[in-house]
Amino acid sequence: MKLLMVGAGLSGAVIARRLAEAGHRATVIDARPHIAGNCHTERDPETGVLVHVYGPHIFHTDDAEVWDYVTRFETFRPYKNRVKTTARGEVFSLPINLHTINQFYRKTLRPDEARAFIAAQADTSITDPQSFEEQALRFVGPDLYEAFFKGYTEKQWGCHPSALPASILKRLPVRFNYDDNYFFHRFQGMPETGYTAMVARILDHPNIDVHLDTPYAPGMADRYGHVFWSGPLDGYFGYDLGRLGYRTLDFERFTETGDWQGCAVMNYGDPEVPYTRITEHKHFAPWEDHAGTVCYREFSRACGPDDIPYYPIRLVEEKALLSDYAARAAGEEGVTFVGRLGTYRYLDMDVTIREALDTARAFLSGGVERGVAG
Ligand code: UDP
Repeated sequence: MKLLMVGAGLSGAVIARRLAEAGHRATVIDARPHIAGNCHTERDPETGVLVHVYGPHIFHTDDAEVWDYVTRFETFRPYKNRVKTTARGEVFSLPINLHTINQFYRKTLRPDEARAFIAAQADTSITDPQSFEEQALRFVGPDLYEAFFKGYTEKQWGCHPSALPASILKRLPVRFNYDDNYFFHRFQGMPETGYTAMVARILDHPNIDVHLDTPYAPGMADRYGHVFWSGPLDGYFGYDLGRLGYRTLDFERFTETGDWQGCAVMNYGDPEVPYTRITEHKHFAPWEDHAGTVCYREFSRACGPDDIPYYPIRLVEEKALLSDYAARAAGEEGVTFVGRLGTYRYLDMDVTIREALDTARAFLSGGVERGVAG
């Protein structure tokens, strides 16, 4: 069957590959001039450093099948994400761990003491936290919330943390030991030649054609037996019910020599600092040697109609609009909605690949005909 993948990111590439290997012909189109979506990597022309063009992407998963899949197409170098945050004139370790707690409170607590101490700060009247703010107050209390989460989150999401779902904060662990690895997952790493090179290898199959600078146009689908749509869910319907909210990012690039900040990602928790974080890309590839260094200051703002969408906001009041679009998607014959934009969810790369593999498998067994996957 002839299939159309709208979007050459992880979802489109992984589905195209699986279905191409099963004998289908896949055409992959993307409006942008490159593959790999928002995990696109390219060499900075001035310094030669491999840059995460759309912000930091660290691969981590507990899913052995997904790890086997990505390592089939790319060598992953061991990489631990160790994030720092600058707040109130000091540098702290993230995610919140025993070092953060002891430094913040000027204490020398051991794990059990810290656990009891933080439990005493927590607002136990919140039994079933719904919002980001409730989740923070329930699990770390007001001091750590104000210093590390409130300002950053208001900058990142452009709204008060009480309007955001608790699930956003649940991404971050709190540790009562000195483990400062940002993630819990068994498998973690950085693609040695970059995400774009990996996606290029996934797409490199005789049954796959890729067309860049090719936005989807009405009527295109008519020539194909099935469409996998990884563009914005509301965009598929021409935004006719209204727009789902996204945040977009702006990056301010600057170059220096040597090592500018000493780590890959430095967050800025204070509300007065206009950016959320600074990424120094050379630290993502410590096996490479570059005299120069390139950093991106990251600013978050509401996504306009001509901007690239990054983060689905999923405000509580957006739920009705989302379910209207999801209901229409479920009724759309011959189209499967996939990925972060197509299903309007804050997905990590490994989950995106897992769902893409599942979508392809279901399609091959005749199970996916329509609707929002995942
Ligand atoms: N967050 C925060 N302070 C930080 C880091 C994260 O308040 O220093 C919050 C913020 O709301 C962010 C969320 O936790 O959007 C998830 O953080 P993560 O590092 O997973 O964000 P990503 O790297 O996906 O942008």
